[in-house]
Amino acid sequence: MLKVPFVNYKLQYQNLKPEIDKTLQDVLERGDLILRSDVEKFEKSLADFLGVKYAVGVNSGTDALIFSLKAAGVKSGDEVITVSHTFFATIEAIVHNGARPVLVEVLEDYLMDTDKIEAAITPKTKAILPVHLNGRVCDMEKIMIIAKKHNLAVIEDAAQALGAKFQGKMAGSFGKAGCFSFYPAKILGALGDAGAVTTNDEEVAKKIRLYRNHGQIKNQEGEVEMTDYGWTSRLHNLQAAVLNVKFKYLPQWIERRKEIAKLYYQWLSGVPEIKLPPQSDENHVDVYQNFVIRVPKRDELFEFLKEKRVETLIKDPLPLHHQPVLKSFNFQLAFSEKLAKEVISLPMYPELDQGQIEYVINSIKEFYNRR
Ligand SMILES: *Cc1c(COP(=O)(O)O)cnc(C)c1O
Repeated sequence: MLKVPFVNYKLQYQNLKPEIDKTLQDVLERGDLILRSDVEKFEKSLADFLGVKYAVGVNSGTDALIFSLKAAGVKSGDEVITVSHTFFATIEAIVHNGARPVLVEVLEDYLMDTDKIEAAITPKTKAILPVHLNGRVCDMEKIMIIAKKHNLAVIEDAAQALGAKFQGKMAGSFGKAGCFSFYPAKILGALGDAGAVTTNDEEVAKKIRLYRNHGQIKNQEGEVEMTDYGWTSRLHNLQAAVLNVKFKYLPQWIERRKEIAKLYYQWLSGVPEIKLPPQSDENHVDVYQNFVIRVPKRDELFEFLKEKRVETLIKDPLPLHHQPVLKSFNFQLAFSEKLAKEVISLPMYPELDQGQIEYVINSIKEFYNRR
């Protein structure tokens, strides 16, 4: 058996079992399965938490991205600027709107290098899609200035950054839309796939509601009208009810992630081979969706930790722009390629106990012969 698994869905359920069981039973007994009050309640909690006017629940973070780009007017022939060092869904969402992904470099903090954006803008550019990777927000001050100057929409991929802040403002509250995922491994995770779009723009909120539910809207007479073509992509009411239970724990879960990060920083900073991730500073409050370190002999470390029954994750050992579907674009992104060879994600979730954290740290130290 694993000593330290990379995620522990079972333990989170065990800890919340009475509440979750009660909620599931309650929803089932009410027969409230599709777009019922639990979805509305969750949307309101999320919007209030982020300080935005609207949140619209959809069935995944990927659909949140696809719909947000479409709502921003991205269409066939357009270009959207994002990064290669992300989760593939970011890029898929651009392509599913018929647009061309234009991938730029990231910096040491794993986030979009804002100095590379303007050189990537062409007359076809329609939007910038910054990714707040690992629970840290991009330099949204610079990105918003560039977007305004060139009249571009900003859609934030905030799937890994629920609760993270930049200059005191929440991830997902800067751009035309913010896209969140509640995939089980995310900071706030459902019992399956779930996502949401956040926005201050009433038109965008309306469009997302259309897209998620077959373009249907109730007119003033209360009749159903199809005013657009949509999809089946509603946030499931049962998932929303579970998310409502878990939402109460979000602040303490984020604090626990910060505590775990602190321990990793403290005890791994003595290992000169390891490059630790950036820390919160005067601009950033990070929420540590992932704790990613950069190391030499990365693959050997992965195997060594596996032997020690510590599960880690190597995100995309082949950089996304080298994947078969993207190869022909010929993006030259030397630093993203270097990262793909060096990064490894350590276990990071609130349910980790002190003994497990120490065991991970000591195992890594043992590998580099640092005691
Ligand atoms: C998880 C994730 C997504 C996609 O979310 P799903 O809910 O799995 O569709 C998109 N972007 C990033 C950066 C993610 O981490």
